[in-house]
Amino acid sequence: MSHTFTNLFSNQSTLLKQAQYRGRFAPSPSGPLHFGSLLTALGSYLQAKANHGLWFVRIEDIDKPREQFGAVDQILDALSAFGMSWDIDPNTSEDLAPADRGCLVQTRRLRRYQEILDTLHAHNLTYACHCSRKKIRQMGANYTGYCRNKNLPLTDAAIRICNDHVNATKTNSDFNHEDYIIKRRDGLFAYQLVVVIDDIDQGITEVVRGADILPLTTRQTSLYKLFGITPPNYMHLPLVSTKPGFKLSKQNHARAIDINNPKPELIQALTLLGLPVQQDLMLKSVADIITWAVAHWDIANLPDTTEIIISEQKTSFSSL
Ligand SMILES: [Zn+2]
Repeated sequence: MSHTFTNLFSNQSTLLKQAQYRGRFAPSPSGPLHFGSLLTALGSYLQAKANHGLWFVRIEDIDKPREQFGAVDQILDALSAFGMSWDIDPNTSEDLAPADRGCLVQTRRLRRYQEILDTLHAHNLTYACHCSRKKIRQMGANYTGYCRNKNLPLTDAAIRICNDHVNATKTNSDFNHEDYIIKRRDGLFAYQLVVVIDDIDQGITEVVRGADILPLTTRQTSLYKLFGITPPNYMHLPLVSTKPGFKLSKQNHARAIDINNPKPELIQALTLLGLPVQQDLMLKSVADIITWAVAHWDIANLPDTTEIIISEQKTSFSSL
């Protein structure tokens, strides 16, 4: 079975033979970058460049209704202002349009995602689920596979993956083993599926991202297993919060980073990432600060925590 999927992902073995570090930063364009996303971008950038690797930016706009007009350009302008220039992946460049500025954009890859979905379906690894939200709530915290053997029509249905297929009799599903949705009833592909397809197609060797995604890692590595492909290394950076449990996010209106005056926030972020920042760094250009940071980057100095608390002055919450 894995053989079929290996053919679908034939590009990946070629990429791995190159043995070059390939990292990525994958923002969703639901708003401009805030200080927390700056920390994640910097962490992934520095880890890639300290390993003499390539660093891609992927626009995760699969949830199109949540996209904010102009956010893609705001994000890319912010990365440039903070000294992070991204590489263009020649292997996926046929998907690129000029407006994408060299970044892989998920909504241009819907045919690719459907190709993978169709193959999964042809192998009886997916099924249609017609359960309402209310019904699922009544069944408990996790989906128990209620529709798995019903062979329901695919139209107007969510598509679920037969997870934990080595142990399909298991009914007592937990979060990691439940048959999660890979295509929503409204026709949108689920993040869980497309992020794995993108990471495989781009030959990503290490994923550096925020600790909030940590709970999804097991689902993602199980998809890799299903496809017969070795998963990348995963590294999770601490989230930035104003108080315990209140991470900066677009949802709670975290302030956008200041692209007209990047140095103070850049240096603060580098300090939080454990770099040995000295005061004279402020006198350097952004490009020189980044070069210095690549040379001094050491993951052993990262804070050993999933959350960093910063002062409220850095943010402006409209709801607090
Ligand atoms: Zn169902």
